[in-house]
This record gives sequence, structure tokens and C-alpha cells, in this order.
Amino acid sequence: MNKPFQDKLISIEPYTAGEQPKSADIIKLNANENPYPPSPAVQKAIAEFDADILRLYPPMDAAPLRKAIAEYYGIGQECVFAGNGSDDVLAAAFRAFFNSDKPLLYPDITYSFYPVWCDLLKIPYETIPVDEGFNVHVEDYFRDNGGVVLPNPNAPTTIGLGLDAIEELIRHNRDSIVIIDEAYADFSEVSCVPLIKKYDNLVITQTFSKSRSLAGMRVACAIADPYLIGYLDAVKDSYNSYPMDAVAIRAGAAAVGDREYFGQVRGKIIATRECTAKRLRELGFVIPDSSANFLFATHPKRRAEEIFSYLRERGIYIRYFRKPRIDNHLRITVGTDEQMDRLISELESFLGK
Ligand code: PMP
Repeated sequence: MNKPFQDKLISIEPYTAGEQPKSADIIKLNANENPYPPSPAVQKAIAEFDADILRLYPPMDAAPLRKAIAEYYGIGQECVFAGNGSDDVLAAAFRAFFNSDKPLLYPDITYSFYPVWCDLLKIPYETIPVDEGFNVHVEDYFRDNGGVVLPNPNAPTTIGLGLDAIEELIRHNRDSIVIIDEAYADFSEVSCVPLIKKYDNLVITQTFSKSRSLAGMRVACAIADPYLIGYLDAVKDSYNSYPMDAVAIRAGAAAVGDREYFGQVRGKIIATRECTAKRLRELGFVIPDSSANFLFATHPKRRAEEIFSYLRERGIYIRYFRKPRIDNHLRITVGTDEQMDRLISELESFLGK
């Protein structure tokens, strides 16, 4: 029912995240979370955390975390911005960098939060169709625009572009800001962090939710030329000077400091991904080569929605999008080997193999 103050209320269709089941028995492969715990260094940092510190506001620039990320990449701390998950960092970046009357460009099949921010922030946008095989062609973005945002690898398609293609995209858009959303880049061989020294119109966002197992803590960063980081700081300080809490700052710094554990977990997930893709292809699924911690699968004989419901009834949650072009595809997060064994065996039963 409409209220008399209806015209003062926001009209927006919010982003829908993957379902969070109540039962712990569910095999949860629907939100691209990491199946392994965070580094033991994170556990230690939290255990040793002195709650007395919580009396005080946290460092508003999250300096210990920015420093740890800068050390990890061998860049200056002034090139790093930190925030409360990459959704927070991306929202700040959309506000800071996409203020033109010209449209922001991004693929038609991509992270479904982008149109939500555009609607919220009244940013004009235009989607560029990916090809039949879901590939992004950077030449399609060589035109007048108000900015570009692209995940690399793209989601939910899992397809990554090489550094040369990304560099072309940035080079042909020197009058705009190009955001490369590297939420899943740690599972690929490509990161454009080295390009920030060369291009002052490039902003990279990264998250600790996937490769560093900290989805529940909300830790992420942006990496860019210090000039652009200044704009992100200005936006942050215009809505909340303290987005990151004191525990998250410590835990995030501990996570990024443990390179060895990071390498082990990353290696395990990539190995499981490759093995699962092979087994699913043997069952008839068609799957592009994945550069992420999930697979994008379709079956020529069975409807994706039917497979999704069958697995759900058996306690395995994957993601199904009722959306144009991808409504016969499934997004399956790479879990542990044991979880993937269960998935395959349920699918074998379903397909009568
Ligand atoms: N970018 C992409 C492409 C994603 O899939 C996600 C995960 N939903 C995010 C950003 C945001 O992740 P987080 O807020 O957990 O850092």
C-alpha cells in the first residue's frame, strides 16, 4: 500500500546474495566462499587481540592493513585503500569515479551488483554483450564513456583476460577510470597490479573473502595511483571515516602476511577445480576453462534449474540465475575434494550414470 510519503522513499531492486542455509550439514557451493579456514596467523591475531583497544576508534585509514598489502605487492602504502569487503570498496569507487553524464560500460553478463550501484547512485550505464562463448572483447570498450568496470576473471563466467588485453582496455580509455575487479584473480595467473605504475586511470579492487577465507570478516582493498586513492579516501570520509573495525584490520594484516599458507590453499583449490571440471565434462557438462574458484556449467540434455533443485533437495547448494542468456547455466563453487566427490556422485545418480 502506498504511503503519503512514498515519493520520499528510495525505489531500488537490491542485489541478491547467495542463500545462507541454517543447517551446518549443507554442502555450500553457492557463494564462492573458501572451503578452508583462514591462515593460522589470523586465528592467532584474533586470540591475542586485547578487547581494551575497542574503547578507542580504530585507525581511520586502516594503516596496518594498508601497509601489509603494500608490502605484499612491493608498492607504496599510498597506493592502497582498504575497506569493509570489496562491495564497500567498489561502492566508494563508483561514487568517486563515475560522475559523468556518459554511460559507464560493463559486460551484459557480469557481477550483478554493478547495476544496483548504478541505480542507487544514478549513474548512467550501458551493457556490452559478451560473445556466444561468454568472452569479453576489449575493442567493444574503445569508445566514449563515463568509465569502465570489468571483473577479471569475469563472474559468473569464470573467463579471464590476459594482461595484454587489459592493458589495451586501459590504454584506449585514458579519459576515463577503468576499474578491474580482481575478486577472483588470485585463482588465475593474471593480476594487473604491476600496471598501476604505468596508468593513472586504473583502479584495481581485491577482496580477502575468497582466496584468504575472510568472507565473514569483510576485508578488501583498492590499488591505484595515489592521486586516485585520495579520491577514495575523500568519499570514505564523506560517509563513514571508520569503515574497518580494529579486529578486521589486524586479521586482514595477518592474512596477507602469511604467504605460505595462501599459496597452499590457492594450490589446493586450483587442483580441485581442474579435477572437478574434468569429471563434470565426462558427465556431459560444458564448462569454460575457469580462472576462478568456481565453475560455470551447462548440460546439453538437462535443464540447469532442474539440476539445481535436485542437488538442493540433497543438501548441496549451488547457484542458479534466472536471467537472460545464463538461465541454463549453473555456478558451482570449488569446495574440498570430499565435497566435490559428493557433488559428482549425486550428479551421476541424477544423470543415470
Ligand atoms: N566482485 C565480484 C565479481 C564478486 O563476485 C564479489 C562477491 N560477491 C565481490 C566483488 C564482493 O565480494 P566481497 O564484498 O565479499 O569482498
